[in-house]
Amino acid sequence: STALANDKVWHMHEAAEQDLLEQQVSLMGELANAIENHELEVHYQPKLDLMTDRIASVEALVRWHHPTRGYLSPDSFIPLAEKNDHIADMTLFVLQRTLRDLAQWHGAGIEVKAAVNISARLLISPAFFDAVGAALQVSDTSASDLIFEVTESATMADPAAALRALEGYRRMGIMISLDDYGTGQSTLTYLKTLPLGELKIDRSFVENAHEDSSDALLVRSTVNLAHALGLQVVAEGIETVECLDFLREVGCDLAQGYFVSRPLPASELLTLCLSNSTSPKTPVRTAA
Ligand code: C2E
Ligand code: MG
Ligand code: MG
Ligand code: MG
Repeated sequence: STALANDKVWHMHEAAEQDLLEQQVSLMGELANAIENHELEVHYQPKLDLMTDRIASVEALVRWHHPTRGYLSPDSFIPLAEKNDHIADMTLFVLQRTLRDLAQWHGAGIEVKAAVNISARLLISPAFFDAVGAALQVSDTSASDLIFEVTESATMADPAAALRALEGYRRMGIMISLDDYGTGQSTLTYLKTLPLGELKIDRSFVENAHEDSSDALLVRSTVNLAHALGLQVVAEGIETVECLDFLREVGCDLAQGYFVSRPLPASELLTLCLSNSTSPKTPVRTAA
């Protein structure tokens, strides 16, 4: 009867996998229409300059309000989008929205830059490169206000091609930020060759750094390494005041995380920036 039970479990498992597969296939089809149907939105999460207590830049994060499935996390659909061309359309949408919102914030007197996440496959796409150039040309925003966040693992998929692409974007005037740093396999030698302006230390190292001595050591030495390479360094995933204090102490340049602010819709971000620019010493915190 054990064998029978196992057999039953196995069939349930197979059915569940089949369900998941079907769900993913239909989700992929729906993503194609999501832009046209205005289901995608862009939220912005501030990066706080720890020297001035001002919002130096924001990161654009895509949001999908699915008509029947409700809110979907980017982690649930971006890996799917990466398997086909949807990632290009989706990222272009995020880029265009970000450029438009940047122009509006600048018009309101807010000096801020914005980062867009670029996934591995897209990074090395010549068609996407041309589309970025075209989008910048018709926008009122300069390339120097734009940051591309590229994960360490994305660059490692094809290091030579990634380097060429990053050099192209750098020549365009876009700053390159290495995202989720510490989780990839890059060597210092390779890192040194990349035209980086910013290093983002992954949340997994940052979250316990104020109480875990080995994480503390990792964060401290990464800050020093980044500075030695002439890069500014951002710590992501700051959820507590203890964590923020620790980052100030080790000389980290910028901080991002729920303790500073959750990702916000463009209009709320503008309100936050306006109050932050008139009195930078008031805490930016919007999180409870
Ligand atoms: P990421 O680029 O590393 O973005 C940071 C993620 O951590 C965001 O999740 C953000 O909301 C979340 N986060 C920020 N502060 C905290 C914190 O203090 N605590 C915790 N627990 N989480 C925090 P989100 O928005 O769900 O995005 C997840 C990932 O999806 C992003 O990771 C990025 O890799 C990807 N993604 C989001 N938008 C885009 C996009 O437009 N294009 C591409 N290619 N990828 C995107
Ligand atoms: Mg990012
Ligand atoms: Mg990150
Ligand atoms: Mg991350």
